Amino acid sequence: MTLQKSDPEIAKLIGREEKRQREGLEMIPSENYVSAAVRQATGSVLANKYSEGYPGKRYYQGNGIIDAIENLAIARFKKLFNVAFVNVQPYSGSPANAAVYFALLALGDKIMGMALSSGGHLTHGHPKITFSGKYFNSVQYTVDENGWINYDKLQEQVLIEKPKILVCGTTSYPRVLEFARFKKIADSVGAILLADISHIAGLVVAGVHPSPIPFADVVMTTTHKTLRGPRGAILMTNNEEMAAKIDRAVFPGLQGGPHENVIAAMAVAAKEAGTSEFRAYAKQIVANAKVLSEVIIKNKIALVSGGTDNHLIMIDLKNFGLTGKDTAEKLEEAGIVTNKNAVPNDPLPPAISSGIRLGTPAITTRGMKEPEMKLIGDWIADVIFSRRPVGAVKKDVLDLCRKFPI
Ligand SMILES: *Cc1c(COP(=O)(O)O)cnc(C)c1O
Repeated sequence: MTLQKSDPEIAKLIGREEKRQREGLEMIPSENYVSAAVRQATGSVLANKYSEGYPGKRYYQGNGIIDAIENLAIARFKKLFNVAFVNVQPYSGSPANAAVYFALLALGDKIMGMALSSGGHLTHGHPKITFSGKYFNSVQYTVDENGWINYDKLQEQVLIEKPKILVCGTTSYPRVLEFARFKKIADSVGAILLADISHIAGLVVAGVHPSPIPFADVVMTTTHKTLRGPRGAILMTNNEEMAAKIDRAVFPGLQGGPHENVIAAMAVAAKEAGTSEFRAYAKQIVANAKVLSEVIIKNKIALVSGGTDNHLIMIDLKNFGLTGKDTAEKLEEAGIVTNKNAVPNDPLPPAISSGIRLGTPAITTRGMKEPEMKLIGDWIADVIFSRRPVGAVKKDVLDLCRKFPI
């Protein structure tokens, strides 16, 4: 029986969400549109199977085919990232980071990650309200007042703090991460380096952002952001001993049965990401972000760090006395979906904030290029400065979206 027949209530809501995704500009930089093939694998019968354990070492019968699928996913990611060991079972990015800490640290050991307010992730040691800040001794580093990582200052802080693990990787840093420098800094105190490339993994496999694989001890990425796969995460390392610890931490340490439907969809996404089409796509994400940032700057709107090297842009609204919350809501009314975000030295709390974070991965998947970025940049300024009625911008957004079907 189809969903429409068996559960019209949910079917209708899914239909409405599909329309929302079709008719708006999805500019949250951690979101994307996956291929029909990825969706088909995600919704497949593989979701019915229990397969606790790893290929060749399962706790249930009937896993021969599942083993072939998981092995294929692992092999494809090894090749894609040029790495020796891959675990494809983490349910998502946050549990994957938890697995790394549980694998390589003892409770109370010192984690040093970038502060949430600077672009770090909650799981990088955010104090008080997260497991990483509660059960480990967390110290945090920040970006400078212009939004850049100051590697010399980081080196000084690391020498004082001597963390057991240094975490690099961000959710809202528009600049290149210098993994070689992070590694040198971690090595200066014998710390493990965890690179969390959740946001930039698609750029890394396409060669438009340097890879952390030659430098970091462990690399984590989600598979659903620029990598354009299903919601999930993978853990990678070239260190055999760490690989064994990570495997045990993921299962049985933290998780139960793996989501093999998602793992199959990851394998599909890994195959797609190895194509020349994907490399061109990732290059276009960055080219689009560059043009978009230039148009926004031309409209006299400040950007954190003054621009972008990657897929995302951070608008700083402090000079205008506008809040990120109100502006993001107004942009959504115009069909431009972004999120509020803290900026360096933000006087407002995170739930209100003074910044807007936006990115180009999803609209680039729709096929939009430089000419469309010029339009969108001006529309964003129209909304921020109330230069045109929101409804007029929304109409333009809708016309553009119809020209670029998903
Ligand atoms: C998205 C993200 C995560 C967490 O991923 P979830 O799948 O949402 O748990 C972790 N780290 C970084 C840097 C991210 O961008």
